[in-house]
Amino acid sequence: MKIAVPKETRGGERRVALDPDACRKLVQAGAEVALEAGAGVAAGFPDAAYEAAGARIVADATALLGEAGFVLKVQAPQARPDGTHEADLLKPGALLLASLFPTRNLDAMKRLAARGVTAFSTDCIPRTTRAQAMDTLSSQANITGYKGVLLAAVEFPAYFPMFMTAAGTTLPAKVFVIGAGVAGLQAIATAKRLGAAVTATDVRPEVKEQIESVGGKYVGIELAQSAQAGGGYAAELSAEDKARQAKLLAEHCAQVDVVITTALIGGVVAPKLLDEATVRAMKPGSVIVDLGADGGGNCVLSKPGERVETGGVTILAPTNLPATVPRAASTLFSKNLLNFVMAFWDKDGKAFRLDWDDDLQKGCAITHEGKVLHGPTLKALQ
Ligand code: NAD
Repeated sequence: MKIAVPKETRGGERRVALDPDACRKLVQAGAEVALEAGAGVAAGFPDAAYEAAGARIVADATALLGEAGFVLKVQAPQARPDGTHEADLLKPGALLLASLFPTRNLDAMKRLAARGVTAFSTDCIPRTTRAQAMDTLSSQANITGYKGVLLAAVEFPAYFPMFMTAAGTTLPAKVFVIGAGVAGLQAIATAKRLGAAVTATDVRPEVKEQIESVGGKYVGIELAQSAQAGGGYAAELSAEDKARQAKLLAEHCAQVDVVITTALIGGVVAPKLLDEATVRAMKPGSVIVDLGADGGGNCVLSKPGERVETGGVTILAPTNLPATVPRAASTLFSKNLLNFVMAFWDKDGKAFRLDWDDDLQKGCAITHEGKVLHGPTLKALQ
């Protein structure tokens, strides 16, 4: 089977879908792997490393995509500067595996369906034990949590750790993490490693213990109505719980120095948790890092991709943080993809095997034979 890895074209994207190590493993399994020239350079992987792993380097993306039976990508197919669209360059009937975020990329999903592409999205993989090693949401969220705290530490006008010096003692920064899923737990652990005093909140009850296990102190309200949506996802709070949580967040944000928000509903949409009054009540010099930016932002005053200063508070809302740690992010991402491909690899036929009885394939299939299969995407398209 011919497997192709194009260079990512979305602005700011520095990751590549396959690192040289994973490339070698696919070649050893009998795949013919081809990469677009320079595809791994921004992540620190030169073409020569892929050639040494047994891949072919192809200069022309159009030719590369047009001949592949299976395309591995990081981002959903994008419009190209010449007016064409990457989705339209795929071979009809080809397979695509990427983190498509289908509901955020509806035009590309329509094009993939029209092209007859079978597209799988790693961010829609069911959250089962078997799927954990294939889950790009988790591997990349971990990086987001880590890098978000580093950005906060650079922005903060004081130290994170306590320092006792001849010139005096500085107190540790008070960091508050809102949302303690994968990104939030890593944010707590990273802030703790930097010496901050960390508090955190979430709406799923099992998270309290997890917050404490990475060194944070839990703060939260007793919910009147469960916010569990299954699979580790949170649902939207009831109006009553929202009001009670908003009060707690306002009170707590006013006491801390740094707020890191990571909350998502259903893994996609960021609930607005910090209103203007909450930001206005924060101490001058405070920093908010809104890691919900890719989902629209958790703070009403944040602007995705921009830095906002208001009333002495700095708000960062970085998008696509994994792309800013491109080597580690690509290595983890490509391991996720490799694990998915190998789980269905036909050793004799040296090709990926479609299996519609398999819950993983079924769960993350977005388009197939001209149709959109993924429920939330279908709903968003209506
Ligand atoms: P996520 O990105 O969907 O959401 C981030 C966090 O925001 C969640 O913890 C959620 O509860 C929280 N949140 C939502 N609304 C909130 C609100 N109003 N206030 C405060 N917090 C709010 O979640 P995630 O990080 O992808 O994963 C959540 C859980 O799922 C984790 O515990 C993780 O271990 C589990 N998980 C399991 C698998 C698997 O078994 N294969 C894979 C991925 C994740």
